[in-house]
Amino acid sequence: MRLLIAMMKHETNTFSPVPTPLSRFGNAPGPLYGEAAIKAYRGTGSGLGAYIELAEREGAEIVLPIAAGSPPSRPVDDDAFEHIAGKICDAVKAGGFDGIMLDLHGAMVTETYEDGEGELLRRIRAIDPTTPISVSLDMHTNLYDAMVDNATVLAGYRTYPHIDTYDTAKRAGEILLRTMRGAAKPMMAWGNVPMLPHVMRQGSDDFPNKELQERCAAMTAKGALSATLFVGFPHADIHNAGLSVVVVTDGDKALAEKLRDELLEQAWSDREAFVYKLEALDTSLARAKTIEPPKPGEGPIVLLDHYDNCASGGTMDTTAVLAAILREGLENVAAFAIYDPEAVQQTIAAGVGAEVTLSIGGKLAMPQIPGESKPLTITATVKTIASGKFRNKGPSSRGVQMDMGPSVVIDTGTVEIALISRHVEPNDLNCFYTLGIDPMQKRYVMLKSRIHRRAGLGSLAKAVVECAGHGVCTSDYSQLTFKNVRRPIYPLDLPNR
Ligand SMILES: [Zn+2]
Repeated sequence: MRLLIAMMKHETNTFSPVPTPLSRFGNAPGPLYGEAAIKAYRGTGSGLGAYIELAEREGAEIVLPIAAGSPPSRPVDDDAFEHIAGKICDAVKAGGFDGIMLDLHGAMVTETYEDGEGELLRRIRAIDPTTPISVSLDMHTNLYDAMVDNATVLAGYRTYPHIDTYDTAKRAGEILLRTMRGAAKPMMAWGNVPMLPHVMRQGSDDFPNKELQERCAAMTAKGALSATLFVGFPHADIHNAGLSVVVVTDGDKALAEKLRDELLEQAWSDREAFVYKLEALDTSLARAKTIEPPKPGEGPIVLLDHYDNCASGGTMDTTAVLAAILREGLENVAAFAIYDPEAVQQTIAAGVGAEVTLSIGGKLAMPQIPGESKPLTITATVKTIASGKFRNKGPSSRGVQMDMGPSVVIDTGTVEIALISRHVEPNDLNCFYTLGIDPMQKRYVMLKSRIHRRAGLGSLAKAVVECAGHGVCTSDYSQLTFKNVRRPIYPLDLPNR
């Protein structure tokens, strides 16, 4: 048996100014290829980890042309997409495969294509019309016809935070293996409803997504090989942004359509619960001050800077929430993190123990949203200088190597501020430990995150205060100008269906 395995992952925030060249794909600069990719992902709790494990279990020959995953940012550079898709298509051309296992994101927009994954699958099918293809996808997939038409089986995450990347690829891969043996004939039905669920309301521990995902899981008992409800990624001004469903059955089109419709109807009837209610920053911080400090053994009060989440395309360098924390005099705070490679280099030059005065953040202009992002001048003592490399503790992407680039911590006396050189969302405790910060010893922890922080810090936080700051992941959708998404769409136009 010969299997082609590959990864191409990017969630595109079309409002983001953060560039997406090829070098952004990968935890070392750039993607990994062949044996190096197999070695990096074998045994990890990732989609590729699951595919490699399945292939080795079957005694298959593995061809892994490229593993390319990038943190979210603006549309992917054309030459980066052509390189990644080209590597995969060249391998397909070599031929002789019994199956193709792809770990994709499902919300990749390139400079040319609105549906990067659909374009990749269309090209693969043009070369090889018959070899079965499994695709594992993120819950934030914005689904298109071309993805469904050119794949054999699609399966998406059922958790947000995404702690089932491994399970999802395993599910997709097992269905593919059964198909290759002639033991299953996957039949897919997909559809969408005109709604853009708010990211802050998409958590799979909360109503309504918890119930929707439980219903997807229960559908395997009703004859589905796999049922997926994608909440969609709303910070993408593309035609098919929003909620969608794909159901895979064993040759039963009518059943796939029936189960799809049940999920879509439930999601639509819950649409109001997917709308987020905003609170002013001053109100949030005043509330944070009234929360009792954590007792020994209790976790910190999380101040969630959710407008600037780099795992949704944020620049990670806006300073509105950090400036308010300093202005309001909050004490014993860790702030994670400000992306500022220049300030990191200035700090490294000064050395541990030195006092520095730095202008941090506010360096990346955000022309697609209102307001100006200002740098913040900070005088602080250099506490830590680190490589920024760590391995995820889990449960999210356990064991996967992460790289924040050269990283430092500066201490103002009341706030320890992490400055990093590569975008990494703080969703794993090891990103703190590697910089010598123990969040459990802090009264407050400011996080540039939204839902993913629940993976590593969810159960540890004493309380969470959502802080409306500034950034291209704005939770105020009236700040975003949508020109291409299909209209009307809820809640932008409040349509009745
Ligand atoms: Zn996602």
